Amino acid sequence: MRSTTAAHSARALRSQGALAVLRFVHAHPSATRADASRALGLSSGSATEITARLKAARLLDEAAPPRTGGRGRPSPVLAPHPEGPLVCVVDISHERWRVACVELGGGVLDSEQGRHSGSADVVGLLAGRVTAVHARHGRRLRAVSVSVAGTVRGTTIVQASGMGWRDVALEPLRPPGVPLLVGNDASLAGLAEARRGAGAGARAVLHLTVEVGAGGILVVDGRPVDGATGAGGEFGHMPFGDPALECPCGARGCWDLAVDGRAMARSLRRPQPRDPRTAAERIVARARTDPASREMDAVADAARALGRGMGALVNALDPDLVTLSGLAIDLAALAPDPLGEGYTAALMRYRRADPPPVRPSALGSLGTLTGAADAAFDVLLTNDGLTAWSAS
Ligand SMILES: [Zn+2]
Repeated sequence: MRSTTAAHSARALRSQGALAVLRFVHAHPSATRADASRALGLSSGSATEITARLKAARLLDEAAPPRTGGRGRPSPVLAPHPEGPLVCVVDISHERWRVACVELGGGVLDSEQGRHSGSADVVGLLAGRVTAVHARHGRRLRAVSVSVAGTVRGTTIVQASGMGWRDVALEPLRPPGVPLLVGNDASLAGLAEARRGAGAGARAVLHLTVEVGAGGILVVDGRPVDGATGAGGEFGHMPFGDPALECPCGARGCWDLAVDGRAMARSLRRPQPRDPRTAAERIVARARTDPASREMDAVADAARALGRGMGALVNALDPDLVTLSGLAIDLAALAPDPLGEGYTAALMRYRRADPPPVRPSALGSLGTLTGAADAAFDVLLTNDGLTAWSAS
């Protein structure tokens, strides 16, 4: 009897635009029922009927609309159901970790964070946190989505040169029966930026970030172009740097080494920093307070190198616009002329009159978390995902 009911409700969810309404609400978290029906071309009656079904399936809820003072009865706001599906996002960056529960629409329910020593042992600690989240939310937890500052293939971190990790399997983060997704932090931040941030509305967005090294992703029609195994977008390991330098990745001349704290330390004839991100922050802060300082020259060199690689990638990938995050925003803000010179010099002549605009990230440090949650909801907001939800 139970399975017949589940099959019936799964069929009901698959039909008549329920999936379209859910995807719309996920992408537009404060939308009203009237917004959804307008955007999806539904009659008011169909929108009411679909939202009633989604409410019964514990996927959507309706909240009172904000008072506008306008005439007529305002349309209710479509909100995630209080017992609806959740995604557990695990964000592993060079020195920090974060575990957060995200609901439909991207709202963060609970979140905890801490620092780690850089050792891969942190995976054991995070597995404990994910197990606790699973115990707390039970079947509401539909996926674990991990964002990592490293190169990812499947669910393994092939290398995270900033942390010295190689071949670290993340399977311990998978609770029994729950899908595990793993993505590169820059790629996930780019996905979110293209869909919800500074790139929203553009067809092809090139996102570039600099933290320790450079990374990014090309997002076309809201989909990341990340290759056969998800390891694409490692722009930092293209040979836009000095061929005399060997990168921890094993290649020579990587762009990574020309744009971050290691590059700035080299410009300043200082030893290579143990923590390149913090070193870069100090150099940037000094350049900001004293534009005539040697630190400013180091920032300008890194900005020029960022611009050159950006121009090369624009030639190759043809984006509508380029979005920047992390240290790349500081480089662009402090040294716009060197960045622009590097960019223009690398662009093919026909592009120079009207190059793709370069914009700072709108999501900032929330980019990776938002992108990791979106990647998981992409899997959940499908016919198969809804069928599994109904069965649970
Ligand atoms: Zn490299």
